[in-house]
Amino acid sequence: MIAPVAGVIGWPVHHSRSPLIHRYWLRQLGIDGDYVPIAVRPGEATGFFSNFSTSEYVGANVTVPHKETAFESVDIVESAAEALGAVNTIWLDADGRLAGTNTDAAGFLANLDVTIPDWSEQGKTAVVLGAGGAARAVVWALLQRGFDPVIIVNRSGERARNLADRFGKRINCVDWPNVGEYLRQAQLLVNATSLGMSGQPPLMLDISGLRDDAIVTDLVYAPLETGLLLNARARGLRTVDGLGMLLHQAVPGFEKWFGARPEVTRELRDLVITDLAGPP
Ligand code: NDP
Repeated sequence: MIAPVAGVIGWPVHHSRSPLIHRYWLRQLGIDGDYVPIAVRPGEATGFFSNFSTSEYVGANVTVPHKETAFESVDIVESAAEALGAVNTIWLDADGRLAGTNTDAAGFLANLDVTIPDWSEQGKTAVVLGAGGAARAVVWALLQRGFDPVIIVNRSGERARNLADRFGKRINCVDWPNVGEYLRQAQLLVNATSLGMSGQPPLMLDISGLRDDAIVTDLVYAPLETGLLLNARARGLRTVDGLGMLLHQAVPGFEKWFGARPEVTRELRDLVITDLAGPP
């Protein structure tokens, strides 16, 4: 039998930590297989997906800038991808048809569930900073968990309103200058912007108004200890970093391609943290 090979499709793709994660699981589970970066130029993505069933791969993750093209290219779309209009995981079904899902929302929820098991029982008001692809997954995930309202704060008001239009009445859009009064109501604050990431401007946000029982999570994982998380911890608030989401969103794909459900372990987390500390 030929050893199964999966990969991550993106452009550029060399910075992806997915090969490190999946190869760790392949070793842990003693599976004879591989997971490789697959560089696909923007103009070549449609052709790549149409020929996928005859490629050497059993499936793949899809990253920037191909998630929307993957969504348009798959034969079968699971509900999470349908809701988000983007596919980040593809595989061939028993009939050789290309199927796709999106695991970002599930990864976001799993990270919180594992870190603070009762996080979604403590109240249902959330403030989400950002309205890009990651924020879209977060907002949808929070709606699935019954959050109401979900307050979106974004630099581009139009992008925030597009998200609200997509997901309905439980979303409120708020401008940055007014965020303070909404922070007072929130049980959960999520940074889903790229602010605070290495090489990006810092996130300037006064969190003094947050409730004492609020939970703060940041999707940015490079650096792992963002300014937001440091400030929140200094205030005695519970925090959840973004690395767990990256690890948990990888689980469903691995299970589909290699037939075993992998675990997000402390050892894997440490492996990725060490890698993030090295050259990009
Ligand atoms: P997008 O490019 O789709 O969105 C970027 C968001 O950041 C937008 O809301 C944008 O606002 C905002 N933003 C960027 N620069 C500024 C600025 N100077 N001032 C104010 N707002 C700004 O990116 P993604 O949604 O894909 O990713 C967002 C972050 O989440 C990234 O840091 C990414 O690494 C992280 N991420 C982490 C994951 C994980 O597993 N932990 C998974 C996915 C993403 P505007 O709309 O106005 O441009």
